[in-house]
Amino acid sequence: MSERERTFVMVKPDGVKRGLIGEIVSRFEQRGLKLVAGKFIEIPRDLAEEHYGEHREKDFFEGLVEFITSGPVFAMVWEGQDATRQVRSMVGETDPAESPAGTIRGDLGLDLGRNVVHASDHEDPGSNEREIDLFFDEEELIDYERPDEAWLY
Ligand code: ADP
Ligand code: MG
Repeated sequence: MSERERTFVMVKPDGVKRGLIGEIVSRFEQRGLKLVAGKFIEIPRDLAEEHYGEHREKDFFEGLVEFITSGPVFAMVWEGQDATRQVRSMVGETDPAESPAGTIRGDLGLDLGRNVVHASDHEDPGSNEREIDLFFDEEELIDYERPDEAWLY
């Protein structure tokens, strides 16, 4: 059994405006992941630039920051076995056109920019903890028991 861990996910402004928050939350719930934190926020520009800091030199950086600050996002923390990798496999590829049906981006994403959801990168170890720290205070991460704990992933 792999280690339980926490990972950061957010519904991007396109997903919020298209009314997809419930659909996306539902997929992670049905997978058996456990919700640890969630909040509906408008990302300040400096937070957006820090969050996407690894892309600072890319030509799409400015557009990406503009987009992610263009409306509210729904930020979440999910917990489960190997959660970062598991969530990424449910999210699909960066480009919705390359994402298989059954993945969130493959089913719901429109294009590279409007790909509905962000998730921490399992190929960048520590990105999950880093992103959780960036968006949430310690006291916002809720520790609780579910009656179906044995059936969680
Ligand atoms: P992911 O979100 O799959 O981890 P990246 O970290 O590579 O992807 O990029 C962050 C976000 O930047 C992507 O989700 C996408 O919205 C946007 N993006 C990535 N590559 C491009 C590109 N070539 N042109 C426009 N936007 C891009
Ligand atoms: Mg990434």
